[in-house]
Amino acid sequence: MGPQEILLAEPRGFCAGVDRAIDIVEHALAKFGAPIYVRHEIVHNTFVVNDLKSKGAIFIEDLAEVPPGATLVFSAHGVSKAVKQEADARGFHVFDATCPLVNKVHMEVAKLSREGYEFIMIGHKGHPEVEGTMGQVDRGIHLVEEVSDVARVHPGQTERLAVVTQTTLSVDDAAEIMEAVKQRFPSIRQPKQQDICYATQNRQDAVKMLSRDVDVVIVVGSPTSSNSNRLAELARKLGVDSYMVDNADELQPQWLEGKSRIGLTAGASAPDVLVQEVIARLKSFGALAVRRMEGIQETVKFPLPKGLKA
Ligand code: SF4
Repeated sequence: MGPQEILLAEPRGFCAGVDRAIDIVEHALAKFGAPIYVRHEIVHNTFVVNDLKSKGAIFIEDLAEVPPGATLVFSAHGVSKAVKQEADARGFHVFDATCPLVNKVHMEVAKLSREGYEFIMIGHKGHPEVEGTMGQVDRGIHLVEEVSDVARVHPGQTERLAVVTQTTLSVDDAAEIMEAVKQRFPSIRQPKQQDICYATQNRQDAVKMLSRDVDVVIVVGSPTSSNSNRLAELARKLGVDSYMVDNADELQPQWLEGKSRIGLTAGASAPDVLVQEVIARLKSFGALAVRRMEGIQETVKFPLPKGLKA
């Protein structure tokens, strides 16, 4: 028997930080004209990046590729102090699309560092957000990716030690690592509010609910998207087959064989148009109905930076 019903996770897809980051590039293009340079993929989504490329955005990794006098946007993941300083020194016209929730972590690190703190950062090595957050200080920030790393960190002192995390981690894995960190460094200072953002938390909660009711979970998201990967991983941990697709063409009919209820969600950087295309393709495989799960309605919205407001 083929698919019968599609259950849509709620919430799913774009978060406020992604919305704002894309808006910044679009407003910059409208106001200053092409090209607009963007450091790193503005958000980790192939469709979004290609769409902005077609409108005149140029994505670069190294500021050496940006010509003098250009307008430059920093991606939603944030940048290190060194990158900011280099952009200032070279006189670019900069718009910072760093998500305000990532920025909050940066400010915390900068402030505590001035008070003499060292840091444990929980995150994924090489992710641009981790590089940006770790790059807020010149030294004294130690990355742990998993519980077994905790025993291997050796801060210079432990009286002033704080822990920060990447915003898009698995909530459950991060809690486990945090426990290990607290065991090893009982007096470590924790953030007042967890650094994992509302959007990550809500999308993972929704997948937990969804996974109870479906036979397979499809996650719309690009392979580079941390929060999308965490959604597919979470469904699998809960015992449900799960696949990530960057677009509808990647759906494989054999994934749905013998599955009657298909759960569908999307990472925080995946646009709704892709979800609609996946729904259309699932219908072509035989799915009849689409049902939206009950879930939190998100109302978070972040304003555009000065100089780009209408
Ligand atoms: Fe901001 Fe969270 Fe969205 Fe990342 S996933 S852009 S931290 S709201």
